[in-house]
Amino acid sequence: MILTLTLNPAIDMNYKLEHLAIDQVNRCGHVIKTAGGKGLNVTRVLKCVEADVLATGFLGGKTGEFIADELDHAGVAHSFVPIKGNTRHCLAIIHEGNQTEILEDGPSISKQEAAAFLQEYDLLLDRATVVTASGSLPKGLPKTFYQQLIQHAARKNRKFLLDTSGESLKEGIKAAPYLIKPNQDELAALIGEKADTEAELIASARRLAATGVKFIVVSLGKKGALGYFDGRAFIVEPPKIKAVNAVGSGDSMIAGLAYGIDRGLPPEEALTYGAVFGTLNAMEERTGYVDRTQVESFKRKITVRTVD
Ligand code: ATP
Repeated sequence: MILTLTLNPAIDMNYKLEHLAIDQVNRCGHVIKTAGGKGLNVTRVLKCVEADVLATGFLGGKTGEFIADELDHAGVAHSFVPIKGNTRHCLAIIHEGNQTEILEDGPSISKQEAAAFLQEYDLLLDRATVVTASGSLPKGLPKTFYQQLIQHAARKNRKFLLDTSGESLKEGIKAAPYLIKPNQDELAALIGEKADTEAELIASARRLAATGVKFIVVSLGKKGALGYFDGRAFIVEPPKIKAVNAVGSGDSMIAGLAYGIDRGLPPEEALTYGAVFGTLNAMEERTGYVDRTQVESFKRKITVRTVD
């Protein structure tokens, strides 16, 4: 089973407007509300391909109930820890070819709630082979929280895929997760310098591997990705597609990597699934969705080559 962690989930509110008028009333007839947060995108994609997946994290208040109901409705197995605070809303306003976002910080997690989560997590780890953790840490948790989760997983020999950024990533990699998937900006922030060319990307990945991370994947949008595993570098090239909405492609890539790793596939094949799911998500209007019937044909359209 793949266990997905979404510690700061959200109801994603998507408003489509012809025009956003600042300092005026805007009326909107096109609103979509979904169970969101990067980890739930990963979960939805895994559900699309009928993988054995279970979602956990924190949920609270009526907004938390909405998310649990949505997951039930979609047939997604979940076991979230209840909290006193209210799960957040995140707003995305689509207008004139732009996407303006307003993201609430979300609730603060108490010491007792964090302890209850760790207890639940340990139980769930017994049933998991792979763990994915996506997004930033909610308020109240120590910045070393991902380190604790990685260490618990390592003790039980579970592979931990960490997809976060900034301080959470800097702290998280100190516990040597199995895999990280920064994009180019996240990689630059982590290493402290920009990596553009193939040689620079490989050099950055090698530096990260020296810290103990086994599998490094740098996602490069429509250009594909660079993988680094056990001293070997891989260049992943997706086919040219007509992108509709690439938001959540990074989360879909994590879903593909987890899917491949859970099946015990070699790194180049896990990378292929990552690129397939990322690309298929970019072809959909919905965020965190892939068309399962396209997976096999897209596997043949992705090339993965080894660099010496
Ligand atoms: P997000 O934060 O929106 O989830 P990200 O920056 O973490 O995204 P990307 O690098 O944009 O992740 O996308 C992940 C993968 O999805 C890429 O490595 C690539 O394989 C695939 N992908 C994304 N956009 C496209 C595209 N336009 N065409 C083909 N493949 C794409």
